[in-house]
Amino acid sequence: MSSYKNTETALIHGGISIDERTGAVNIPIYQTSTYKQDGLGKMRGYEYSRTGNPTREALEALIADLEGGVAGFAFGSGMAALTAVLSLLHSGDRVLISSNVYGGTFRLLSKVFDHFDITYTIADTTDLTVYESQISSDVKAVIIESPANPLMTVTDIKAVAEVSHRHGLLVIVDNTFMTPYLQKPLELGADIVVHSATKYLGGHSDVVSGLAVVNSKELAEKIAFIQNSTGGVLGPFDSFLLIRGIKTLAVRMDRHTENAVKAAEFLEQHKAVRNVYYPGLKSSQGYEINRRQAKNGGAMISFELHENYDINTFFESLELVSLAESLGGVESLVCHPATMTHASIPADIRKKVGITDGLIRLSVGIENIEDILADIQQAIAKSERK
Ligand SMILES: *Cc1c(COP(=O)(O)O)cnc(C)c1O
Repeated sequence: MSSYKNTETALIHGGISIDERTGAVNIPIYQTSTYKQDGLGKMRGYEYSRTGNPTREALEALIADLEGGVAGFAFGSGMAALTAVLSLLHSGDRVLISSNVYGGTFRLLSKVFDHFDITYTIADTTDLTVYESQISSDVKAVIIESPANPLMTVTDIKAVAEVSHRHGLLVIVDNTFMTPYLQKPLELGADIVVHSATKYLGGHSDVVSGLAVVNSKELAEKIAFIQNSTGGVLGPFDSFLLIRGIKTLAVRMDRHTENAVKAAEFLEQHKAVRNVYYPGLKSSQGYEINRRQAKNGGAMISFELHENYDINTFFESLELVSLAESLGGVESLVCHPATMTHASIPADIRKKVGITDGLIRLSVGIENIEDILADIQQAIAKSERK
């Protein structure tokens, strides 16, 4: 558990924040693959950097502190973290996934883990009765995202964890959109938290990385074994970049969310906009639940333009805001879920879960909000069909 109760402080001083040997206030980049042994079986705590590296270890201790877990693990991407976590399963097992789960997670289960006879069912984690009816005897785990990408669907994590545990399921929460500054799933009953640290934790769109945190010693031993056996570890330099990014998470998230609330309010009253999906808006589906389990609504917004606006023209007219995959960096980004982040989900399933071709996802950055809104406004104006 964190030695610092307040997350703002733990972000900077949590884990291993001082280099013991020199007193350096930043953990050095231990750019080494191996370590000299003083004799047979006489190691100084490290033997090979896939198994352990001091820079990665500092990051792993930090994320464990931040999420309030027993141990943390750093991987070369969010997908590598999820792959390691799903490697806890055995052939014949089934996983439930919330309906708006990240496209890559869906692809991993439907096109890779299916080779090993590990199957999945898209579950309705927003309706406890429906959800419980979907738990058959082969179901061993559930993956929840809240809010879930791209419709920002909110799941009551505590309630779903309770139902899941009654049936012996492992509860996995992808906390990428919220970060431990806004939401701590382990405190809500989850067993494992995973992150694409590429997003808000790194925060500067300069590193691809993933993290996992577990709530028990037993799971920690299992994931450590899988991490070392499958080898998708994060390198020392990227671990350093991530520690550096995490230090400013609180101030970045405060600005991100302050801007996001203004952007959501702007879009909600705009005549060109049909729907706005943002859990920080009182009118949104999951506002009350999100307010109970998270600090605020975060900074991811999706919206739909009315049919008389051409979304291609909208994307091409943006000047400040970039059309790009990814999210959570200091710069504002937009994406088109149907052809980008969620393209790996078949069209019929996309339609069923509400990911329409007119949907636009906005990752609100920390630029001056007036500049962001002016750019969106001029692009909307240009995209109106005359
Ligand atoms: C980006 C993302 C992932 C995948 O992480 P990578 O670092 O790109 O491998 C998983 N889950 C969510 C919610 C994401 O946004």
